[in-house]
Amino acid sequence: MARAAIIAAERKPTRQIMLGGVPVGGGAPISVQSMTTTKTADVEGTLQQIYALAGAGADIVRCTCNEREAAEGLARIVPRAPVPIVADIHFHVEMALAALEAGVQGLRLNPGNLRKPEEIRLVAREAKDRGVPIRIGVNAGSLHPEIYKRFGGATPEALVESARLELEYFGEVDFHDVKISVKASNVPLMIQAYRLCSETFDYPLHLGVTEAGPPPSGLVKATAGIATLLAEGIGDTLRYSLTADPVEEARAGRQLLEALGLRERRGLDLIACPSCGRAEIDVIGVAKAAQEALEARKIPLQVAVMGCVVNGPGEAREADLGIAAGRHKGHLFIKGKIVRVVPEDEMVDALVAEAERVVAEGIEARLAAADVAAEAEAAADRRLLFEEKGRDANHSEELVRKIRAHLELHDDPGAGPD
Ligand code: SF4
Repeated sequence: MARAAIIAAERKPTRQIMLGGVPVGGGAPISVQSMTTTKTADVEGTLQQIYALAGAGADIVRCTCNEREAAEGLARIVPRAPVPIVADIHFHVEMALAALEAGVQGLRLNPGNLRKPEEIRLVAREAKDRGVPIRIGVNAGSLHPEIYKRFGGATPEALVESARLELEYFGEVDFHDVKISVKASNVPLMIQAYRLCSETFDYPLHLGVTEAGPPPSGLVKATAGIATLLAEGIGDTLRYSLTADPVEEARAGRQLLEALGLRERRGLDLIACPSCGRAEIDVIGVAKAAQEALEARKIPLQVAVMGCVVNGPGEAREADLGIAAGRHKGHLFIKGKIVRVVPEDEMVDALVAEAERVVAEGIEARLAAADVAAEAEAAADRRLLFEEKGRDANHSEELVRKIRAHLELHDDPGAGPD
């Protein structure tokens, strides 16, 4: 938790807005968002997806409101949704007004394609009357044409200017319940635009790399942009825009915040060694089986799968729980201490059962219940493995010796600088 405190202390101060019951900005926990891919008019299908997104870590969900049927759908979805709903509005002012009528907890307006000042002021006035915040969702791909021309393209300054202009219209009707995004699919552009936005305004920022694409490259791009900014203390809420099941977006957002220590762990963090010449098992296969079983049970622990008992428990001593293979056995350990030794073919089952006990009883209780003979058995296995495989299990030193011998053979003493 010390790491979380360090990052949190460096967060850029912003105003706070409320999306329903979820605070955004002003030091609130960074929230995760995602967007449904169903037709909003399909109430049951959309609700099913919203529940799946909430289960995967989304704190806020956005739905498109692009037609009358979608607005009617929102009226039926909002009261049954487990998280606040934001309506996504492009082009049609009447859709923004209908979404407010439907009771949404937030609006997202794209200033690039909802351009008439009187319409923008009208939506802001209505949102103000209802206490509903609006995200100014600037997008490099759909920048206001006049701004695009003035700045000679979608530059960071152009994206921020688009947000500033929208804020000016909002200010004319005294509306300030706002968060801002300046997304681009180009990661360096997005990073620069958000940095400038953060210097210019104190409104909360919604981070995202738009149209990041399918995983894994989409995950890498989105993480490169979002994590860079978060590490600088910029950002109050985020969305991964992936070409994938939106559940992947919610899960990625949540995992990123947990990895940075910005949110409490509520899911599994499986770590595994990269394997080497000492590995006594198929590390990839065992790690995959363990991950599936532990995720299915929603185990909120850091769990390690290590290829050998020689180094595994020591290398993964920070993990809550782990297993290391050796001499056809699985060596279960908690915080680096061996607590039980089981047959190799039972190691995944034993790991899952112990994880459930750790969750139910706590780490201290499970350490107290350790098999007293386990440490000695693991030490004996470690010694025997060491004797069998020796210090140089990867045969690296042998190869180094061969390379040296080969090079010496071809060494021409006359060719040196002397
Ligand atoms: S030494 Fe053991 S734990 Fe470390 S990478 Fe090799 S097999 Fe995995």
